Amino acid sequence: MLYSTYAKVEGTVGSREGAMVWWLKAAGNSTGNIFSPQHTQVPRGIEARAWSCLSHGYEDTSIDDDGITCNIDAMYRAAACADKACGLGLVTPSILMLGRKIERYREEIPTSGDPRFRFDAPRFTELTYLWEAHHQRQEEYLAEIEKRETKVARRPDAYRCAAPGCGIEATRKSGLKVCGGKCPVGRKPSYCSKECQKKDWKRHKPVCLGLSKAPVPDEDSEVESDVDNTQSTRPDAEGSDFNPEDFNKSGNE
Ligand SMILES: [Zn+2]
Ligand SMILES: [Zn+2]
Repeated sequence: MLYSTYAKVEGTVGSREGAMVWWLKAAGNSTGNIFSPQHTQVPRGIEARAWSCLSHGYEDTSIDDDGITCNIDAMYRAAACADKACGLGLVTPSILMLGRKIERYREEIPTSGDPRFRFDAPRFTELTYLWEAHHQRQEEYLAEIEKRETKVARRPDAYRCAAPGCGIEATRKSGLKVCGGKCPVGRKPSYCSKECQKKDWKRHKPVCLGLSKAPVPDEDSEVESDVDNTQSTRPDAEGSDFNPEDFNKSGNE
């Protein structure tokens, strides 16, 4: 799609090569060599986007026709263009994915002595803008995971369907529905579906109807920073023929 849009300008419709020539010009470089100094001054935002597109184009060319062999020089060009985009302040998801890919290659591909075939060769490691963006994203990602794990550890039942054997988990509390019955907030089970709520009713019923004397967790532990737009679903929400008592008799539990 991108290729056909831009390549029309060059008169080479649908050609990746044509698109890449055009992107390089958009980056202010008419030499055809990505490592040449900038030829004409272009707005920073356009230049950054052009490098990002070129990075994607080179990454595309890096996998040989067999779909397995990776051309390390094409990967390097992709990384060098990504580095230029990052240096201009543009960090895109595909640039971050490229950084992860190179890091993975560095760890997984057996190293050879020849620096031309090494992903940890200086030509890769010196792309400081790319690695700075990559490491910053890694840190953010780990912090997100840690934050989520802390929240889940505090209230695992808010992130996991309570029905036995279901096993569905949500990344956000809003991904599940909580019981809309009279059960105390600290002991409200969450469900992925009405079916799971029905399945779990026999177990949950004593709590929901206030028959269980088990202690209720401290409500302070409920306070969370994220907006909780969790929907609730009532055990008796399906009309007069579906209240906890009737449901219990229906034999569906
Ligand atoms: Zn479920
Ligand atoms: Zn309940």
